[in-house]
Amino acid sequence: MTGLVLKDIRKSYGNVHVLHGIDLDIQEGEFIVFVGPSGCGKSTLLRMIAGLESITSGDMLIAGQKVNEVPPSRRGIAMVFQSYALYPHMTVYDNMAFGMRIAGENKKEIDRRVRAAAASLQLTQYLERLPKALSGGQRQRVAIGRAICRNPKVFLFDEPLSNLDAALRVATRIEIAKLSDSMPETTMIYVTHDQVEAMTLADRIVVLSAGRVEQVGAPLELYERP
Ligand code: ADP
Ligand code: ADP
Repeated sequence: MTGLVLKDIRKSYGNVHVLHGIDLDIQEGEFIVFVGPSGCGKSTLLRMIAGLESITSGDMLIAGQKVNEVPPSRRGIAMVFQSYALYPHMTVYDNMAFGMRIAGENKKEIDRRVRAAAASLQLTQYLERLPKALSGGQRQRVAIGRAICRNPKVFLFDEPLSNLDAALRVATRIEIAKLSDSMPETTMIYVTHDQVEAMTLADRIVVLSAGRVEQVGAPLELYERP
């Protein structure tokens, strides 16, 4: 049992109730997409899974272990943000290596993982560049590469394609689909408001509405074919 379990997860800011009891059982290796209108609580839920927001009540288990109080760096998760969040003064190589260096990983292993991630994301020729010398799509691939290097059990994506133009959005979406296929044991949780992304990436889609799970199902169970 190595997936992710959410049991009656609630979130309030003061007396504003944002999540009203979320129950989900996510299997190891599943690709889950959270969709729903702006303000329904998608990002809050993702950030709680990442450990970036506290849980007001309920339990969260990753790989069978309760993680409510476990800090982000110890959860075996990696997150990719809409805004890339790269270190501007560090090269692509160093951006990808940074987390592993902090974790005290040895240099050979760091180099092996950085080069493998770069190769799989077509970034090898950019390893010595700074982020500002890259396109938006390349930057997002660096952010994805940095996340891969952490060997996460759970991979989180918060609207990773929103800042890209239409062509790059499709190309990067295809990269993410390939990535998921190449990491069959890694659970992916992806937030978007884009139905096409949800349809093409998800094993199961979770539709949130006003802080509740409204529906859960495979893409073709939820949406009719166009
Ligand atoms: P979504 O990602 O679905 O657009 P969010 O998770 O960002 O929704 O937000 C859900 C609700 O929680 C919104 O009504 C938002 O205003 C509220 N919210 C988010 N963060 C905070 C905060 N730090 N303080 C108060 N309310 C917040
Ligand atoms: P050492 O100081 O023990 O020689 P290095 O820090 O030079 O180790 O790194 C070992 C390997 O990691 C090098 O062979 C190099 O390929 C790679 N490497 C380390 N840092 C970078 C970097 N910023 N850019 C590209 N490659 C790097």
